[in-house]
Amino acid sequence: MLSLEHIRSICSGEIHISEPLAPMTSFRIGGPVDIYIEPANTEELAALVAYLHESDTAHLVLGNGSNILISDEGFRGVVLNIEKHFSDLSVDDGVVQAGAGARLSKFVDFCLRLGMAGSEMLAGIPGTLGGAVIMNAGAYGGEISDYMLDVTVLREGSVRTLTTQECGFRYRGSDLRRDIVLGARFRFPEGNIDELKARRKELLLKRNAAQPVQHPNAGSIFKNPEGGYAAKLIEDCGLKGTRFGGAVISGQHANFIVNDEGAHASDIVDAINHVRRVVYDRTGVELEPEIQLIGFPDDVIASLKRSTAS
Ligand SMILES: Cc1cc2nc3c(=O)[nH]c(=O)nc-3n(C[C@H](O)[C@H](O)[C@H](O)COP(=O)(O)OP(=O)(O)OC[C@H]3O[C@@H](n4cnc5c(N)ncnc54)[C@H](O)[C@@H]3O)c2cc1C
Repeated sequence: MLSLEHIRSICSGEIHISEPLAPMTSFRIGGPVDIYIEPANTEELAALVAYLHESDTAHLVLGNGSNILISDEGFRGVVLNIEKHFSDLSVDDGVVQAGAGARLSKFVDFCLRLGMAGSEMLAGIPGTLGGAVIMNAGAYGGEISDYMLDVTVLREGSVRTLTTQECGFRYRGSDLRRDIVLGARFRFPEGNIDELKARRKELLLKRNAAQPVQHPNAGSIFKNPEGGYAAKLIEDCGLKGTRFGGAVISGQHANFIVNDEGAHASDIVDAINHVRRVVYDRTGVELEPEIQLIGFPDDVIASLKRSTAS
């Protein structure tokens, strides 16, 4: 049984009980978490995680909530939000050090102002650096891991710095899923500041024209299958505009599901299941969800990852 008093003795940051999570996600969907905590530094975070482990309590590290779907029942356990106190950006001898809570937009801006090339394609991805590292976020041919030197994590109670090779980065994934990312260091090649800013502007305009930015969403729902595009497959199956309760497969970008009218998490799950089934039946391609499902029973998560052939 968790003791709130003990948590308060460990953590000087904000603590909330039964905190609604929907406003903390880009989908604006999901129920509450039992306890929400903003640890103020690494020592507090490590002590909290050790205590949660001892008391067998589940925890979730929340970034900007832009790649997750939280169940309608919410999350039984503790959400740790490190956005507020772990977001420093600094540069030393050409090496950029970024805290896990830093928004990607600020990180990109920081790098571009220093004339560092290579982060501009990440502009417009609405996550934190920590979430981007876990997911190996990327766009327009680049990924966050491209110019990374190392990543600092909290792993089994100890702070460790891992080389990029040790992180197991791959398309929209890494081997860091059981760690808490604290920060990362990067060395970018030199570029022309004006040209980099112009490129960022161009990519942001392209992004805004292609994506349904006027409705809450969680970005791409499915990973692109090898050699193809999930959006094209879904569009070719005629699924654009299909509605599931308050959720709709975007008419603008078929790999986006939008929360159109107070969608429930269950509407999104229905949409995902339907898309996987139809795309598999018509093309033989198994689509794999990119978004992370939080607070769902194991069988629901398994059903969204299971082979559609079975
Ligand atoms: C409009 C829109 C456009 C998008 N475009 C792109 C795109 O072009 N490319 C792309 O790759 N993604 C894109 N995304 C998805 C998303 O923005 C990225 O995956 C982003 O990196 C997620 O970061 P986050 O901080 O929001 O993570 P969250 O959604 O908060 O979390 C995602 C996962 O990472 C874990 N996590 C978060 N922070 C940490 C941490 N510090 N330590 C350990 N685990 C952590 C969470 O527990 C969760 O499992 C888009 C999303 C939206 C809404």
